[in-house]
Amino acid sequence: MSASSDIHARRTAAVARGVGSTITSYVERASGGTLRDVDGREWIDFAAGIAVTSVGNSAPAVVEAVKRQVELFTHTCFMVAPYESYVSVCEQLNGLTPGTHEKRSALFNSGAEAVENAVKIARYATGRQAVVVFDHGYHGRTNLTMALTAKSMPYKHGFGPFAPEVYRAPMSYPLRDGLTGEQAAARAIDEITTQVGAANVAAIVIEPVQGEGGFVVPAPGFLPALASWARANGALFVADEIQTGFCRTGDWFASEHEGVVPDLVTVAKGIAGGLPLAGVTGRAELMDAVHVGGLGGTYGGNPIACAAALASIQTMRELDLNAAARRIGGVLTDRLTKLAAAHPRIAEVRGRGAMVAIELVKPGTLDPDPVLTGAVNKACHAAGLLTLTCGTWGNVFRFLPPLVISDADLDRGLSILEEAFTTTA
Ligand code: PMP
Repeated sequence: MSASSDIHARRTAAVARGVGSTITSYVERASGGTLRDVDGREWIDFAAGIAVTSVGNSAPAVVEAVKRQVELFTHTCFMVAPYESYVSVCEQLNGLTPGTHEKRSALFNSGAEAVENAVKIARYATGRQAVVVFDHGYHGRTNLTMALTAKSMPYKHGFGPFAPEVYRAPMSYPLRDGLTGEQAAARAIDEITTQVGAANVAAIVIEPVQGEGGFVVPAPGFLPALASWARANGALFVADEIQTGFCRTGDWFASEHEGVVPDLVTVAKGIAGGLPLAGVTGRAELMDAVHVGGLGGTYGGNPIACAAALASIQTMRELDLNAAARRIGGVLTDRLTKLAAAHPRIAEVRGRGAMVAIELVKPGTLDPDPVLTGAVNKACHAAGLLTLTCGTWGNVFRFLPPLVISDADLDRGLSILEEAFTTTA
């Protein structure tokens, strides 16, 4: 028996079945672009812990900062006895998120918690209740964020009833709707105005590039049109940048690509090199509208996570990981476009920066092919490449390598993928 299968047997007896894992090998250590499992096998990492370890796993600056902080103090609760690093992270967020207006931030533990708090703030500041989200959207697994998330299986199935006053509008999905951004925005706005009523909308919550929903990049013009509709109608435009933020798309935030300045931005994942940290950043007058004590939580902005975030952000600047993301994205897109030319079941190569995906369909149609996607995914895993799928229909392969991955590992990973495709498809 391998060491992994030993642990796996224990896991089956100890860990709730509802918590799944992509692979059944257990990790011993990980670095910039690779993981090593407990049997000594090396994996090339095209997942980065779902877009988290952008600066790499155990990035040297993060390790140093965390060690230093752990020795000083591990937790006081910012709501009880505050510390400077929380303030520094908020200053960084206020400076890095789009727009030069005055901002404030608040820190939390997980992406879902950040989204929940963005909705709380939006409702408080506008005095309205309705929240508009989009087809294929993903915002988390807590009760409110399950309501915001589109896909039933596995995220929502059997877990209702869900939070009220959440409305879903059609997304711009160029491969499948053939609409321009302006047309898709007009369609969404028509639904919002007729079915929700402009005066009831507290917030539009949207991922500028959808993550779990299939790396759907809206047609140009879609996001700016929604943002200007929100502004004109007293609703807040909330960009969920939890997956897209912190250099992933080749900018600090994906909203920047089209010059969109959100009222509120949610962040998590890539901000802290693997430590749990999330935040909401937004216009000072909106963030400060909430009464003292209305926002917070025991662990939100934990000092170790804050130290890791400051070191991660410093690393992103020093290594210019925005440029790295664009370069990695260029390599991925080139190789995948060639692969798509040889395999017509790849309907589209899409993404932004180092957030790239291919969508797989049945021959001669646009019908999703989750079976082929699953088979190629398994073949990649068998050959030591850690890949992830996504998409409403489970037919999208997504590539999210750490932004410090070496050219050699990126190249080896893509060769494994090409081989897996050729033998499986
Ligand atoms: N929003 C987006 C866009 C996400 O990608 C995710 C996580 N995949 C979340 C929210 C939820 O984050 P978490 O899992 O940290 O709660």
